[in-house]
Amino acid sequence: MNQIQPHAGFVFHDIRLWSRCGQPERIEISVRAHAGMARRCSRCQRPAPGYDTLEERRWRHIPLWGIEVWFRYTPQRVECPEQGVVVEHVPWSEGKRPLTTAMRGFLARWARRLSWREAAEAFQVSWEAVYRSVAWFVAWGLAHRELKGVEAIGVDEIHGGHGLRASNFLTVVYQIDRYCRRLLFVGKGRSRRTLRQGLKALGPEVVQGLRFVCSDLWRPYLGVIAAQAGPALHVLDRFHITMHLNQAVDQVRRAESVRLRAASKAAAQQLKHTRWTLLRRGSRGRGRRKAEFHQLRGSSLAQLSPSVRRIARSIPDTPAAVNPRPGFAYGSSQFHSL
Ligand SMILES: [Zn+2]
Repeated sequence: MNQIQPHAGFVFHDIRLWSRCGQPERIEISVRAHAGMARRCSRCQRPAPGYDTLEERRWRHIPLWGIEVWFRYTPQRVECPEQGVVVEHVPWSEGKRPLTTAMRGFLARWARRLSWREAAEAFQVSWEAVYRSVAWFVAWGLAHRELKGVEAIGVDEIHGGHGLRASNFLTVVYQIDRYCRRLLFVGKGRSRRTLRQGLKALGPEVVQGLRFVCSDLWRPYLGVIAAQAGPALHVLDRFHITMHLNQAVDQVRRAESVRLRAASKAAAQQLKHTRWTLLRRGSRGRGRRKAEFHQLRGSSLAQLSPSVRRIARSIPDTPAAVNPRPGFAYGSSQFHSL
């Protein structure tokens, strides 16, 4: 015990296994204060003379072999020159909680892997004990959180439940630096106010030091990010850009289709089935697909609009249909330059 769980100023003087009907029921560890060391005040933790003795208390500790483990100790009250008569400091516990600090950390860690109910059942404690342990662990983590060096954050919304009511959304802020990825903030809703709260929680120093902010295209977020993290590079996430690009291509195709049908049926026919060819990434197109794309870029688009043909001519490496060069290979860069 002294190797695993040493407590300065205290000794484990008796460890006993209690059984009922031949079955191990609990292990009790009796703790005693070291005779030669002064007690400490639980408020300021400075040494203080003893005042009187309280009743014995028990704390639930981490189970061994599936058997409950309890600490037993009879605390004293001390007379602190500053705080007056207060209960002494015991290093395995904080305040009046019936669990040792080690047990609270143990439950909080398991609560990351199991549901709180499962953790409570597995270690034979109440659901509330698990809940309180998690709350204490989170509060400790937030109080000791180091926010120096946060350069990149991601802002996103999480949807739960049915419908698009504001209460069905959460706004989350993550640190997304290469060396550290972690959750920094969770707030209710997805309004400007929520994100403002999130940035406020990070503090002005962190927000002003940001170099990259990644978000989707949700307008309230865009507004707050522009106002508060203006100097940072704002990266819009790929999923939403792809979605908007798809919508834009569809919109143009529909408009062109209507216009062409009015002019000539054959030209409209040519536009059909071009959607995937247009949306395919240039660098991934191979063989026939690539030929189709370049034919489309060179001929169909140029037929649709004389100005596209002019633009295509002005690009140095123009498609074969406009400026024939047999065996010419096209990379993705041409796709982007168009
Ligand atoms: Zn004190």
